[in-house]
Amino acid sequence: AKTRSGEKLQFFTEELNNQVQHRMNMESDLREAIDHGELELYYQPQLNLASHTITGMEALLRWHHPKHGMVPPDQFIHLAEETGLILPIGEWVLNQACNQLKQFQEMGFSNLVVAVNVSVRQLEGQNMTLFIKQILNKTGIKPACLEIEITESVMMEDPERMIVSLRELKQLGIRLALDDFGTGHSSLSYLQRFPFDKLKIDRAFIRNIIESPDDAAIAMTIGAMAKSLKLEVIAEGVETEEQMEFLKKCGCNEIQGYLISRPVPANQFARLLSKYRPP
Ligand code: C2E
Ligand code: CA
Ligand code: CA
Ligand code: CA
Repeated sequence: AKTRSGEKLQFFTEELNNQVQHRMNMESDLREAIDHGELELYYQPQLNLASHTITGMEALLRWHHPKHGMVPPDQFIHLAEETGLILPIGEWVLNQACNQLKQFQEMGFSNLVVAVNVSVRQLEGQNMTLFIKQILNKTGIKPACLEIEITESVMMEDPERMIVSLRELKQLGIRLALDDFGTGHSSLSYLQRFPFDKLKIDRAFIRNIIESPDDAAIAMTIGAMAKSLKLEVIAEGVETEEQMEFLKKCGCNEIQGYLISRPVPANQFARLLSKYRPP
């Protein structure tokens, strides 16, 4: 007869095998996701607080898995990064986002900006700058209408190398945004050395901005300092009118969040654009 600990070990081993198996399946599925047309970009509006018009949109990746349905990015971006699949996926995303932007611009929203999330693996790769340059040429999009979002935590892993990569990108004339700001413990004065155009205050600080005096103070401080450093500020995860009004007082230029809209497929985004149309 088996001992108790033997049973436990067997259970543990099976569980581990299942996990490994699941991961391997997901990896091979993800490998085919592009070719099978399972990836889609959703878009979330960025609302300018002064004009109350949509000035930008963030492209957010969705994977329609044939068996598991919609898999959120939090559940596969990490895998894509570990396996290197983020490189072809990232190129697909950039290409798709720019082509979609071109379509919206042709509909008359000629100054709309698209923000695209980029992983550190993509920045490390040698040809991202060239790839973006080619897309800009091919689509004819103004470089200032493409914004690249890089998370603060990633920046701080190897800041000196990041500065080099970012300056190279900045030379193309595109915009750079620092994503999830406030979570990575970097000081704003230090960030002055990076060629960012915009700070994106992380949702974690926005969530309790009305209830928590600490979070309110943080948002106020970020707003004031960003202004003195001539950086634009956007707040993510804005869900209520109250939060929006408070962020206006903080000097935020733009907001993004469920208050305006969840991320939606391109055809629905077109309708949002008409609703918040520039005069
Ligand atoms: P992120 O860049 O911080 O994106 C914002 C996330 O917050 C999105 O989740 C969005 O749906 C969600 N969100 C927006 N407004 C609200 C709100 O008002 N309330 C709440 N509770 N949530 C809100 P999503 O789409 O699941 O994306 C998760 C993360 O996956 C992104 O975080 C980003 O880091 C990553 N990601 C998404 N697409 C890409 C991509 O194309 N490439 C890379 N490298 N990463 C991506
Ligand atoms: Ca982002
Ligand atoms: Ca973010
Ligand atoms: Ca975030």
